[in-house]
Amino acid sequence: MSQLIEELTRLLGDKGVLTGEAVAERNPLAGLSQSHAGLPSAVIRPRTTEDVAAVLKLCHRHEQAIVPQGGMTGLVEGTVASSNELALTLERMTDIEEIDPVTRTMTVQAGVPLQAAQEAAEEHGLMLPLDLGARGSATVGGNVSTNAGGNRVIRYGMMREMVLGLEAVMADGTVVSSLGKMIKNNAGYDIKQLFIGSEGTLGIVTRIVLRLRQLPKSQNTAFVAVESFDKVTAFLSSIDGKLGGTLSAFEVMWRDFYELVTKAPAENRPPIPYDYPYYILVESLGADQEADAERFEAALAETLEEELLVDAVIAKSQNERNAMWAMRDDVGQCLQFWPFFAFDVSMGIPDMETYVSEVKQSLDKDWPGHRCVIFGHLGDGNLHVIVGVGDESKDARRAVENIVYSPLRERQGSVSAEHGIGLEKQPYLDWTRSDAEISLMRTLKSALDPKGILNPGKVLQL
Ligand SMILES: Cc1cc2nc3c(=O)[nH]c(=O)nc-3n(C[C@H](O)[C@H](O)[C@H](O)COP(=O)(O)OP(=O)(O)OC[C@H]3O[C@@H](n4cnc5c(N)ncnc54)[C@H](O)[C@@H]3O)c2cc1C
Repeated sequence: MSQLIEELTRLLGDKGVLTGEAVAERNPLAGLSQSHAGLPSAVIRPRTTEDVAAVLKLCHRHEQAIVPQGGMTGLVEGTVASSNELALTLERMTDIEEIDPVTRTMTVQAGVPLQAAQEAAEEHGLMLPLDLGARGSATVGGNVSTNAGGNRVIRYGMMREMVLGLEAVMADGTVVSSLGKMIKNNAGYDIKQLFIGSEGTLGIVTRIVLRLRQLPKSQNTAFVAVESFDKVTAFLSSIDGKLGGTLSAFEVMWRDFYELVTKAPAENRPPIPYDYPYYILVESLGADQEADAERFEAALAETLEEELLVDAVIAKSQNERNAMWAMRDDVGQCLQFWPFFAFDVSMGIPDMETYVSEVKQSLDKDWPGHRCVIFGHLGDGNLHVIVGVGDESKDARRAVENIVYSPLRERQGSVSAEHGIGLEKQPYLDWTRSDAEISLMRTLKSALDPKGILNPGKVLQL
């Protein structure tokens, strides 16, 4: 390993390779890993695609495992590395190379933070629709590699839908560059899809062409309360129809979560009393401030008349809108009942009510006194389930995972809606994917990375 690190230092210079204490500084969460101990031997910091290619060529020759790291905001232990591995960070690849207003695209290096990309697009009157709570630190390369979801999937889709072109470096150092700006390109296999959502196991993403949209001119947001789950789903269909395709967020909070994020020590104030089982943040993005506000209010009034809602508050200013989103994003309040286990599951929306009651019943039986809060991008079939049982041991984790994941199997749900598999969910991949699917994944992995050097052990156990 030390000889390889010397070779890499000759290749990239002193600033291109970090060892010693700097490695721990770059991997502050390493000690919290459930499944991995230790730190990578060195952190490699390329500046260009050519650097990444040269690094991988060397690693391939030495059969050296390498773990790509973006903003390290991933939630499934996808970036943890041990002492026989190297980490490769994209932190010096942060150029926004081009914003093209005609094709409405942006070409960036993979290390650009999501928020920087969003803001650059906005300066040109355009929008990068991906948005999530970790926007300040998460990188576009990490977003691509996890196929990130976030708050606006219901309108714009996941990251996959925003990637028009992509450049990646394969395990042996070959650069596959497909940086076209076309929306339509059916010339053979769509190679870029291999790298989107594969969590650094098939290649290292170096540059991306992103599809942008016109920056919306209107944003209307409301917070509503609903009396039953049937009415949640009826409200979703009704409001979506009434808003004529402009619905951009439908974030549901079960009452436990709403109380957690609006009672002290949380700083948010509850806009609606705690009398109902479900609370929903609903938002619409459009092009005409006045007309859209009228349509939004009218749509909500009609759903009230249809008796789908019991209470509603419409944000009248950007501050009020921010306050509504602050409740939804204040997931950190779960630290009040640390230690907790966090889950990101998906299923058909009609299955959610029975799923949640099954999980809660099992938790009540096995862990009286547990805490369980639920919220999520319900419009996308995605729930976040946070469970605290006062015990963070491996056995407790396994028992809670069993409770949360088992009921997904009969509902054809997924153990990972948007966070990926990483190391953490690897034992449960076959609870969601069939043998044939996993076998095809293995075939792809061994064809693209025959020596198994790219992010080993993540997604698939080889
Ligand atoms: C507060 C908070 C809110 C969040 N909200 C959401 C949400 O709403 N929706 C959502 O989907 N996620 C969410 N996440 C999870 C996380 O932000 C996303 O998974 C994000 O896309 C990860 O980006 P990153 O740059 O931090 O990647 P990292 O965490 O650094 O890496 C994630 C994975 O991608 C690989 N990787 C990173 N960069 C590259 C690259 N250039 N090439 C190849 N592989 C690479 C890594 O090896 C790892 O397997 C949230 C996280 C936090 C902390």
